[in-house]
Amino acid sequence: ATLTSAATKDPYPDWKPGEPVPYAALCTTFSKIEMTTKRLEILAHCSLFLRQVLRLSPNDLLPTVLLMINKLAADYAGVELGIGESLIMKAVSESTGRTLQHIKTDQNEIGDLGLVAAKSRSKQPTMFKPKPLTVPGIHKAFLAIAKIEGQGTQGKKVDGIKKLLSAADAHSSGKSIDITKDKGGPSEAKFIVRTLEGKLRLGLAEKTVLPALAQAMLTHEYTSKGNKIPSAADLAKAESSLKSVYSELPSYEVIIPAMLEHGILNLRDNCHLQPGVPLKPMLAKPTKSITEVLDRFEGKHFTCEYKYDGERAQIHFVAHDAKMELATIAPSAGKSDKGVSNIFSRNSEDLSKKYPDILAKLPTWVKDGTKSFVLDCETVAWDTEEKKVLPFQQLMTRKRKDVKVEDVKVKVCVFAFDLLYLNGEALVNKSFRDRREKLQEAFVPVEGEFAFAKYGDTNELEEIQILLEDSVKASCEGLMVKMLDGPESYYEPSRRSQNWLKVKKDYLAGVGDSLDLVVLGAYYGKGKRTSWYGAFLLACYNPNTQNYETVCNIGTGFSEAILETLHEQLSEIVIDRPKPFYVHSSGNKDQPDVWFEPRHVWEVKTADLTLSPRYKAAADEVGGSGKGVSLRFPRFIKERDDKKADEASSSRMIAEMYQRQESVTKNKGPSVDDDF
Ligand code: ATP
Repeated sequence: ATLTSAATKDPYPDWKPGEPVPYAALCTTFSKIEMTTKRLEILAHCSLFLRQVLRLSPNDLLPTVLLMINKLAADYAGVELGIGESLIMKAVSESTGRTLQHIKTDQNEIGDLGLVAAKSRSKQPTMFKPKPLTVPGIHKAFLAIAKIEGQGTQGKKVDGIKKLLSAADAHSSGKSIDITKDKGGPSEAKFIVRTLEGKLRLGLAEKTVLPALAQAMLTHEYTSKGNKIPSAADLAKAESSLKSVYSELPSYEVIIPAMLEHGILNLRDNCHLQPGVPLKPMLAKPTKSITEVLDRFEGKHFTCEYKYDGERAQIHFVAHDAKMELATIAPSAGKSDKGVSNIFSRNSEDLSKKYPDILAKLPTWVKDGTKSFVLDCETVAWDTEEKKVLPFQQLMTRKRKDVKVEDVKVKVCVFAFDLLYLNGEALVNKSFRDRREKLQEAFVPVEGEFAFAKYGDTNELEEIQILLEDSVKASCEGLMVKMLDGPESYYEPSRRSQNWLKVKKDYLAGVGDSLDLVVLGAYYGKGKRTSWYGAFLLACYNPNTQNYETVCNIGTGFSEAILETLHEQLSEIVIDRPKPFYVHSSGNKDQPDVWFEPRHVWEVKTADLTLSPRYKAAADEVGGSGKGVSLRFPRFIKERDDKKADEASSSRMIAEMYQRQESVTKNKGPSVDDDF
């Protein structure tokens, strides 16, 4: 009932048509969202607010949506705020006249710097009334703060933040903000600080904002023409259209103007994948055996490709004479006399500065008629003497930034396995058989530089077994098994699809896939290792609650040299106390000696999964009376620099792995293992 009545009212009455969106209005919506955990209510608040934006200030739709998903720009633009806790505390202290010590004490007590800022702000006597903050103004200011570089960066960032905090809550000055009530209410200072920290803590994920935007847009289109509000079926159509466009072209910078111009139902015809804007790659599901692959793909045509062990790369290219208009091109695109090119990582980060050697040679792998393309491939370290693939560890020794072609020591070979766009046409909705054919037609392999991923098209167990063994002999991790025909073989951006299966050599024994976990804390070592950390507390990520749930302690798999480097890296991100979104046992003996910001992701193997009261991973999903899933005998494999903390293995995935495990399926009942 609340929502129905809300649906007819503007959520923020104090805002006139044509005025920039008041930041206070967005914060009011954030605050309403903060008061509920129900996804449908969150969606309704979001969509109602976006409708008001569309009606009163449509030009501000883009910055509003970006602030809602807590981003300043599309991922590939590489704009990150990255402001540490200490800088924010300094800014809060200086802008409110409270001592840093007071702020620290408050932070220890409250554990939410946003609330500390809200509380500090309300204590400040107001001498003058600053101009109210606006959404486009805040967005611009955040962008400017993010882009500060060079000498005196920190001081300049603090100044930028201070300016915003001083203008925050201008409308409510005089009134004191009670942080114990309504979680601090719509305080602007609170949300500014949380945005700077990179965590709004609202449970407002992109997967909610996207449908809210679709609903708001369609409803606005109907009502502004005097029609009734759209039916549920029409809304669903608009949502699915926006979702599918966004998966091919994940850039609100391109989509929002197109949507405003053509209308949401015509968006699909006007917006497609385009070179310059990386899409999130398709991912594979793990399998435990070749027989599992045969069971899952029974009666279908499929192909088994070598699974190369390097770094995923999406290569974009547009020839100068391609005669196409690009709405956007990633900022650090490489230019050659033939065209413009970019390389993106699995995370849509720009790798152009890491692989200038690839960009330089790229035009020589391309046949004459090939004018524009998006390639999906793996870059692999290459032994130029033995002419063979080198292990992943070699690739990791390459510098990451500002690499000069003449200094490259570790040569790479690009193994292409998919083609997503060719000569002005998106291929994602073509069969894999067709895409592969086009790939082979458009490129020329060059030994040690560019090759097509090796494959065999067979449904025979023995032949697959031989392919798997051969792939391992060729220093690959195993096989990727992919559907060949029909809609099941279409490229599914950003999805971990049933239609791509991975068979890794070391799945064949053990749990299956390795896990990617976030380092939350550490324990000082014993014996020889006392000056470094000897063991670490790891966690998985729960995207629904945005919490990190602990899953194991790990002390195996590290060489002395790695421990030394890790100590150096991690010491820089030590924090005084666990973040409120860390979920771990409260037992005294379970606490690590130090806690870290959630930043480093490590790949870890495990022998087995078990339930433990000490760890909290997937505790809600496995229903084990507060016990979480934990790893037995975990072993460190490598650092995953290409993954951010919120891309770590999810609680859901760990719950699924646990449930699949034989001890559970056979109903033997899991063992409980508390020991590290
Ligand atoms: P996740 O853990 O999220 O699944 P990951 O990065 O650990 O991803 P895997 O699941 O082990 O990777 O395997 C998928 C990765 O394998 C791809 O992202 C790609 O980098 C790599 N790869 C190597 N060869 C191929 C191939 N022939 N086809 C598709 N991917 C391949």
